[in-house]
Amino acid sequence: MNFQFTDEQQQLRRSIREFAEGEIGPHVMEWDEASHFPIEIMPNLAEMGLLGVIFPERYGGSGLGYIEYVIAIEELSRVDGSVGIIVAAHNSLCSNHIFKFGSEAQKQKYLVPLAQGKKIGAWSLTEPEAGSDAGGTRTIAKREGDHWLINGAKTFTTNGHYADICVAMAVTDKSKNSHGISAFIVEKGTSGFKPGKKENKLGLRASDTSEIILADCRVPQENLLGAEGEGFIGSLKILDGGRISIAALALGMAQGALDAAIKYAKQRKQFGQPISEFQAIQFKLADMATQVEAARLIVYQAAWLADQDSTRFTRESSMAKLFASEVAVRVANECVQIHGGYGFIKDYPAEKFYRDVKLCTIGEGTSEIQRLVIARQLLGKK
Ligand SMILES: Cc1cc2nc3c(=O)[nH]c(=O)nc-3n(C[C@H](O)[C@H](O)[C@H](O)COP(=O)(O)OP(=O)(O)OC[C@H]3O[C@@H](n4cnc5c(N)ncnc54)[C@H](O)[C@@H]3O)c2cc1C
Repeated sequence: MNFQFTDEQQQLRRSIREFAEGEIGPHVMEWDEASHFPIEIMPNLAEMGLLGVIFPERYGGSGLGYIEYVIAIEELSRVDGSVGIIVAAHNSLCSNHIFKFGSEAQKQKYLVPLAQGKKIGAWSLTEPEAGSDAGGTRTIAKREGDHWLINGAKTFTTNGHYADICVAMAVTDKSKNSHGISAFIVEKGTSGFKPGKKENKLGLRASDTSEIILADCRVPQENLLGAEGEGFIGSLKILDGGRISIAALALGMAQGALDAAIKYAKQRKQFGQPISEFQAIQFKLADMATQVEAARLIVYQAAWLADQDSTRFTRESSMAKLFASEVAVRVANECVQIHGGYGFIKDYPAEKFYRDVKLCTIGEGTSEIQRLVIARQLLGKK
């Protein structure tokens, strides 16, 4: 067993940390307050290869694995979870669905510009009436000659307003339930496709979370992604990888909150001494650091498994997501507590971590759904 990152991985972490602290850090609160999608840093992310981390170079990607991908999401999210989720939805949801299930022609046409960072991707599974129960999708796609006519509405799509390419799930055969749901690649500018309401959120406010409206949306037959009827089953496989990125998002924010708490505890004085001298504060920091380290192990273990490419890693990715997201919520809570009243105001990063981390126990399957997935795997149920 080797727990050491390679020299290249350590260098990657250093360069992303430097970029995140230097180019993202100074703007985090301004973007958060204004719910500003940081479109201006997308070219930098592209240049660093972070919009195609897990894809082979022949498809415009960086040719790296999930370990490097987790390093990237962790380091971006340590500074700003919004940037973390933007990159995560682009890579491991939209682009990865095309990579895993697309034809060669679809990969050349859509994956290459996504992985190069020339286009932004989104992935739409959730609907107003189909969240945890995503198999209850209502959006319908009807075949009309060499086109599909899609009608319905998606909700909570990350990058929805900014996406050039959206992978959307729709029912193609109602009689087959979840085996009658197919995936489609929908391009911005397609007639009948438009982003709807942009959500006003508790946290991750610089990321875009939007409704997607599909009204008589005409999608050519060649944009059916994967086999007809396999969109939902494919989505579950995509979520295996997606959950590793939410786990990495949680890990990064937990580390950011821990770093902020240590910094503050050393500088804040009460009763004539830094509060870090109080054992109550030291114990909090020790517990936070221990939990973050345990989360790091389980998240990188899932990433390592994903890189082995041989098996499904459903159970491990769900465990990583469940554990890391719940750790992040607890650590961010203690970070606010260590900051006292200053944890409640926007001059310090604590309150933002506290708001942002909550998404991790909800997105890509709530903690309750992760427990269901893990239990099913343990009990050998489908
Ligand atoms: C910021 C943000 C970004 C998102 N990005 C995307 C995206 O890019 N693409 C996308 O498709 N979706 C996205 N989502 C949607 C997200 O995946 C869903 O919100 C999530 O799956 C939960 O669905 P829901 O909100 O409908 O909650 P519900 O399913 O209504 O759940 C409500 C509560 O009931 C519980 N519950 C539901 N079913 C069960 C059960 N069987 N057993 C026990 N408890 C249960 C849940 O755990 C939860 O506590 C995003 C959401 C947010 C908030």
